[in-house]
Amino acid sequence: MEQKKWEKDQTPYVVFICTRCKQYSYVKTTQKTKKCLRCGRTHQVKNILDKGEIVNGMTKAVNKVKQLQNSLGEAQFSTENEFIVSFNNQIIKKAPKPLEKMEDYEEKFQQCLTKLSSNYSRFPLHLIEILAQDYEIPPSELKLLIKKSIKNGILQSTKKKSYFTIVKS
Ligand SMILES: [Zn+2]
Repeated sequence: MEQKKWEKDQTPYVVFICTRCKQYSYVKTTQKTKKCLRCGRTHQVKNILDKGEIVNGMTKAVNKVKQLQNSLGEAQFSTENEFIVSFNNQIIKKAPKPLEKMEDYEEKFQQCLTKLSSNYSRFPLHLIEILAQDYEIPPSELKLLIKKSIKNGILQSTKKKSYFTIVKS
C-alpha cells in the first residue's frame, strides 16, 4: 500500500555540487528546478542530471550528500581529529578584518563557542553544528570559521574522535 511504497523509496534523485558555493545538494530528478539552500542559486535540474550522480531513494541521496561533504573536508575536519578551543580575546581582536558578512557570523560563532565552553570541556563536532544552526550560521560559513579559529589558535586540533575541547586561557 502507500506506506510500503514510502518505505521502499526508489525515487531517483540527482546528487550534485552547487556551481556557486561548491556545496553538495540533492533533488528529485523529476523536479524542474532546485534552489541551493546555502547560497540561494537556482539550478535547472535538466542541466545537472548528467553532471551529478543519480541515486534511488531519499535516504541514499542524503547519505551520498553527507559522504561527499565529508570528503570535501580537509584533514582538520576529519572525524579522526578533535579540537581544542583556546579563548584568547587578544587573538580574536588581532584577527585580520574580514568581510562584513563574515564578521556577523564571526560574532555569532564566538557566542556559540562561549556557550559551548561554559557547558562542556569537550564536545563533538556535531554539537557545534547543532548550536551553529541555532545561531543561524550556515554550514559553509561554519567551516570557514572553524578553519579560521584553528589558524588563529582559538581552536586546536587534538587527535581524537571528532571531539572539540575548549581551553580557557
Ligand atoms: Zn550554492
